[in-house]
This record gives sequence, C-alpha cells and structure tokens, in this order.
Amino acid sequence: MRIQPLSSQLINQIAAGEVVERPASVVKELLENAFDAGADQIQVDIEQGGLRLIKIRDNGSGIDKEDLKLALARHATSKIASLDDLEHVASMGFRGEALASISSVARVSLISRKHDADCAWKIVADGREVDTEPQPDPHPPGTTVAVQDLFFNTPARRKFLKSDKTEFGHIETLIKRMALSRFDVGLTLTHNQKELLKLKPALDVKTQQQRLAHVLSADFIANAVACNSAASEMQLTGWIGLPAFSRSQQDMQFFYVNNRLVKDKLVAHAIKQAYQDVLHLSRHPVFVLYLSVDPALVDVNAHPTKLEVRFREGRLVHDFLFSAIHKTLADVRPGKSVVELL
Ligand code: ADP
Ligand code: MG
Repeated sequence: MRIQPLSSQLINQIAAGEVVERPASVVKELLENAFDAGADQIQVDIEQGGLRLIKIRDNGSGIDKEDLKLALARHATSKIASLDDLEHVASMGFRGEALASISSVARVSLISRKHDADCAWKIVADGREVDTEPQPDPHPPGTTVAVQDLFFNTPARRKFLKSDKTEFGHIETLIKRMALSRFDVGLTLTHNQKELLKLKPALDVKTQQQRLAHVLSADFIANAVACNSAASEMQLTGWIGLPAFSRSQQDMQFFYVNNRLVKDKLVAHAIKQAYQDVLHLSRHPVFVLYLSVDPALVDVNAHPTKLEVRFREGRLVHDFLFSAIHKTLADVRPGKSVVELL
C-alpha cells in the first residue's frame, strides 16, 4: 500500500483509543472541563452505565457561539497558547482533544451559553466533523454536554465494555475521587433517573467532613488525623488514616497534585515508608492528601489521561512527603482524641 494521510475522523478515533477507554473516561474529561470553566455546580446524569447516555451540565463560563465548533475540533483549546503556558499549566485540560476524541466515537450534543449572551447555542456531532451551524437553545448560562451511544461506530471498542452495572461502578468511583478534588463544587449524580449522590459545595470543616464521610466512610473521619505541612515551596494538606484503620487493599488512597488525582510510584513509596514502623507490610494505609506545588515543578504532560505526572525534583518531593507524614503519625499520641487534632 502507498502512504496516504489519515482522515481527520480516523485520527480522532485513534486518539480516542488513548483517552476514551470506557464511559468513566468520558465522565472524567467532561468533569475536568466543567472544573476548568469555573463551575461550582455540576449535574451528572447517566443512563445504562453510561453506554446509552452521559450528560454533564455545569454553570461555568460557557462557550462563545463562534467557538462551539472549535470546541469539538482536535488540537483546539482555550487553555494554552504557547510552550511557556504548557510549562505552567494550572488547568486540568490543555491538550484540546477530549471533545474531538469523544465526538468521533459517540453522538455528542454540546449546548453552551456565556453568562452575558442572550441565549444558548447548540451543535451536534455524530462521529463526523460538524457541518451544521449552531442552533439557538433555551439552556441557562453554562454548558451541557450529552454523549450518547458511546462506541456506536467502533464495534470493536464497544465489545470491550462490561455490563451497565460494572461501567456505572467505574463512574461512581471516579465521581467520588473527583468530588474529593474540589470541595468547593457541588455535585449531583443520577443513574437511570435515580438520584444517587448530592453533594453541596463544602466550604467549611463540617461540610468537608460530611463529604469525606459520604465518599469514604464515617469510620474514616473517626480514624484519621489532619496533615498540614509546608516546606521548600510545597504544601501538603489532607487527612491520613491511623495505623489501626489500615486496609488489605489500596482502595482508600487518594493523592492529588494541584487538585489532580495522581497515581505515582514515588508518592506511594514515600507514604509507605512513612508508615513502615507502624503498619504491617501486608496492610495499606488510608489517605486523602493534597500536594500543592508550583505548576512549573511538575510535568502533567506525561500521559494522555494525565493520571501520571513527573516531578522536576522527585527526591525533594519524596523526602518532603515522607517527613510530613512521618511527623503527623509521630504526633498522634494515645489518648489524644482525633477530633481534637482535626
Ligand atoms: P481541553 O480541555 O484540553 O482544552 P477539550 O476537548 O476538553 O480540550 O475542550 C476543548 C475546549 O472546549 C476547551 O479548551 C474549552 O474552551 C471548551 N470547553 C469544553 N468544555 C467546556 C465547558 N464545560 N465549559 C466551558 N468551555 C468548555
Ligand atoms: Mg478537556
């Protein structure tokens, strides 16, 4: 065969292979967009485990009518414009390919209204480039993205999806993780029209604890201590479980770098080491931790789904985490109530 350029639809579908593995990946991308748009209220409606419908509505900034088509185009973003921006990026997104990828493998409708616009505008895409003009819509300020029939045109991908129940389970786990990344955002989740989660914005300690209890368990609150440590332009806050509240699995471990949930070997190692003296090797600690670092010191462009990051000063981060957690654990004295420490 001779060499020929791929069609833009196929390019997008190939990219979708990296970021859109299952309905939960779509939910992640859409939630991140809503966060980036400054929304403080997000409604997530799911039908049939997300295979039939994923609909996310936010009250964020909205998109200009003129930009709607571009929002679905590949490599088009409002979040960065230069390499320097990329190196300091603070938004969740910046690759400008999520909506393009999703709309190449699903039927997408995008409705959006800027706060100062007279009305909302809507475009629809069904696996191909949009060739119609935006239509007016009564939607309030903010954005709704509805994704129907995921992988309808890529049967090989659709075959890999599990049951509605399993796929919804992935979505629920993801929403809970994201709920802990932004306490200031209210989140509602429905599945097949049934409301399953309703979290108000949690701006004070009491509602924060309620959210933690809701997402993790009431036991966690009763068995955790607050962690707050700062050094070398880094800050670590959050809660760590007392050694007695350990788990046989790593299922209650949440680590966020600048509000982004991250899985990182270096981080895992530092935390494990900090618990070494007080936890049996076969047990896993429970933690919800937030690391704030200068965006320039962490490379989030290491993986398309951005679950992995690279720290510019890995050793420094490791040692900081280790000593912050080690010290927090050492300060927990028997008899001292946890509530007092919180
Ligand atoms: P990225 O988030 O990497 O920029 P996306 O494909 O996810 O790429 O989105 C493309 C663009 O569409 C964004 O840069 C943003 O300008 C706009 N956009 C997407 N979702 C929303 C939303 N919920 N609210 C406002 N703007 C949005
Ligand atoms: Mg995005």
